[in-house]
Amino acid sequence: MGRVLIIGAGGVGTVVAHKVAQNADVFTDIMIASRTKSKCDDIVKAIGNPKIKTAKIDADNVEELVALFNDFKPEIVINVALPYQDLTIMEACLQAGVNYLDTANYEPKDVAHFEYSWQWAYQERFKEAGLTAILGCGFDPGVTGVFTSYAAKHYFDEIQYLDIIDCNAGDHHKAFATNFNPEINIREITQKGRYYENGKWVETEPLEIHRPIDYPNIGPKESYLLFHEELESLVKNYPTIKRARFWMTFGQEYLTHLRVIQNIGMARIDEVDYNGQKIVPLQFLKAVLPNPQDLGENYTGETSIGCCIRGLKDGKERTYYVYNNCSHEAAYKETGMQGVSYTTGVPAMIGAMMFLKGEWARPGVYNVEEFNPDPFMDQLNKQGLPWHEVFDGKNELSE
Ligand code: NDP
Repeated sequence: MGRVLIIGAGGVGTVVAHKVAQNADVFTDIMIASRTKSKCDDIVKAIGNPKIKTAKIDADNVEELVALFNDFKPEIVINVALPYQDLTIMEACLQAGVNYLDTANYEPKDVAHFEYSWQWAYQERFKEAGLTAILGCGFDPGVTGVFTSYAAKHYFDEIQYLDIIDCNAGDHHKAFATNFNPEINIREITQKGRYYENGKWVETEPLEIHRPIDYPNIGPKESYLLFHEELESLVKNYPTIKRARFWMTFGQEYLTHLRVIQNIGMARIDEVDYNGQKIVPLQFLKAVLPNPQDLGENYTGETSIGCCIRGLKDGKERTYYVYNNCSHEAAYKETGMQGVSYTTGVPAMIGAMMFLKGEWARPGVYNVEEFNPDPFMDQLNKQGLPWHEVFDGKNELSE
């Protein structure tokens, strides 16, 4: 039914490849392309399906991408390389007539700043070309947007308060490691915090606001307010929202390491001169930190990510909490990767499946909450990320 090209052979790319291969009725022809071809070949070996093709690609290079697209002729590209490559891949999709999906919004290499404006600017060109671009289709962003649109469709006349809560209660038994690309992760966390209230964005110092939140099957964990990219599209698509916040858990040990990394200048993203060679400290740090792909083997515990929503139904106030818990061990057993890569890769595969099945095929550039959530929610239950609902329960984030 569909030809798919996966770009990026990291932790998330590995999960996407496994899940795409498991759904052979939808994904009939598969290629994995990345900067290091041997990593693509290793994934194919692990899956054990020699029919999956591999290629070397520099996704910063539009011409190279167009040549690969014209050669393999995919219907959709799943971009799970880094956010820096979003625009070159979108540009190549337009030139070669290919549909597009990613899991993180564009970020320039030299400024630690992400927002949708760069990608939303492609709206008219994708529309005119009759091509679909699905933005932010991992877990957060991704499933959190689908959870919100599912709540809006079925349970609320008006969503007023949204708190996205993200807990990783896993233990990888390393002193310090990040669960996805360290460079992207550290850039995200060291930025100022931001949340939306009464039509305005309120800025905070990095990790300034925090509180314990009680996560299902895990218990209370200190959670820190961060800016996260789905907040930008959700407050635009649900204008009744009065307040939208994003919370993530961090352990004390992680925060201490992070503080030291910043204080000694290793989180810098500008070039410094080292023995006559230009290096970016954060990129150097990435080279010596554990590779997120290698964390899976001894990872114990689980993640819990969900949306706490308060709003109105038939004139009455109600609350709704929808979440998924994902076991690191189960994710590793199935794909060889830990839970954070798993919770990102599974929704990326489902998004591409939604496109190929015609459920989410609509020319233009869209965030996930703009599509019908029902078939996606149905697939989450079937593809390893079952979700649970709590109606009108205690909502500690209400005040
Ligand atoms: P990794 O660093 O493990 O993998 C990135 C892959 O992209 C690597 O294989 C890398 O190649 C490849 N790559 C990087 N630059 C290029 C390039 N110029 N051309 C071709 N390939 C390139 O990252 P993750 O798998 O952890 O994350 C992948 C994406 O998922 C990121 O964009 C991240 O932000 C996003 N993400 C989204 C989440 C969500 O819930 N929405 C959560 C977690 C991650 P090489 O192997 O040679 O380095």
